[in-house]
Amino acid sequence: MIRNKVVVGILPTFPHSETDPYGDTASFVQMYSDKVKECGGIPIGILEKDASFYTSICDAYIWPGGSKVHREFFLILQDAIQNKKPILGICLGAQAISIFFNLLEDKKKYPDLSLEEIYQKMKEENPYLKEAENVSIHSHIVTKEKESILNAMHEITIQKNSLLYQIYQTEKMNVVSLHTITIAHASADLMISAKSSDGVIEAIEYQDFILGVQFHPEILPDLQIFEWLLETACRKYLLLVNKKEKVQKQDFLIVHYDSTIAESLGQSDMELNTKEAWLSLQAFLQSHGFIVDVNSAYRSSQVQQEIWDFYLNKYNDDYVQKYVAKPGFSEHETGLAIDVSVKVNEKWMDEETDQTAEFFTFLAQNAWQFGFIIRYPKGKEEVTGYSYEPWHIRYVGSSKIAKKIMENHLTLEEYLERKF
Ligand SMILES: [Zn+2]
Repeated sequence: MIRNKVVVGILPTFPHSETDPYGDTASFVQMYSDKVKECGGIPIGILEKDASFYTSICDAYIWPGGSKVHREFFLILQDAIQNKKPILGICLGAQAISIFFNLLEDKKKYPDLSLEEIYQKMKEENPYLKEAENVSIHSHIVTKEKESILNAMHEITIQKNSLLYQIYQTEKMNVVSLHTITIAHASADLMISAKSSDGVIEAIEYQDFILGVQFHPEILPDLQIFEWLLETACRKYLLLVNKKEKVQKQDFLIVHYDSTIAESLGQSDMELNTKEAWLSLQAFLQSHGFIVDVNSAYRSSQVQQEIWDFYLNKYNDDYVQKYVAKPGFSEHETGLAIDVSVKVNEKWMDEETDQTAEFFTFLAQNAWQFGFIIRYPKGKEEVTGYSYEPWHIRYVGSSKIAKKIMENHLTLEEYLERKF
């Protein structure tokens, strides 16, 4: 994530010749990056075949149409599967996904062979693979002439229990497919989620984060499939932790954050992207005249236990239930939650009073811009199980999702129920 936006790596469409010393350039189709930008993401071009650098910064991928399946980019698919990063394959990209899953299937038969060796073996028996890597056969020219696009328009039927159905909410739709070869054989691990009337496989999917479509969604005006890609990329930040949902083991990277007011060292640490977003929010608040800092952010379950015990000694059971989370059930144990304090008349304050009301109203109205929500809003005590806590903000990974939650006066619980 960069500046709180999802980074989408886009593969080149036409990598050029390798023998010409000036031919090692890549071309990118503007329509793909336009769609990513329209959905609020940051598109970046994957500029070289050694894509390992890009796997470290990309949250999602688009494998677009093109002239040849470049197997060097299978590394991208490995990263996607391993780290559950969403990938959208389009046209030749969908075929690349299919070939990769064929390889994984054959790997079970030949565990000692490398994927490349298996590929060469498959190629001997499978003319389709020869076609997929043959530039001259899989060359289609996408013209933007309205006429030619309309000619390629046809209906597909979408499986009702599929991811594609969830995205488009329809069983029949008109799409534009422009291709000369089709997916010959989909691995058993893939679901075939759409077909055209002549039996051509129009979509394949794996679990809920890998999707390949034979048609070209970038030509159509709607954004649903690209929105799916970006929302799925920040889904891990929608982790639900509440009185019923225990903190599961997460792979969030907790980093140090130096707060001037946290009670003890380490208590203001937080998740990596949460910190980036927090620093931007803090600067924004400061530019509006509010001096803020972190009272408490990440807590280990041991620290949460200590807090629980401390309050239990001091207050009655009822109070503790309302304000303090049981160890294992605190959002603070994820590193995604921050308790904010504001400085008023040289005093740090974290409760809503006459003096802080203006600040907390401003925070509630603007935190979404940085991907934060007020996790325990007023009037939602029944849903969240907690009293109103204006100071407790929660990172959800996307300003777009945060905006949706705030605008519709939802809690995270309600958003997740509607959406996923
Ligand atoms: Zn809190």
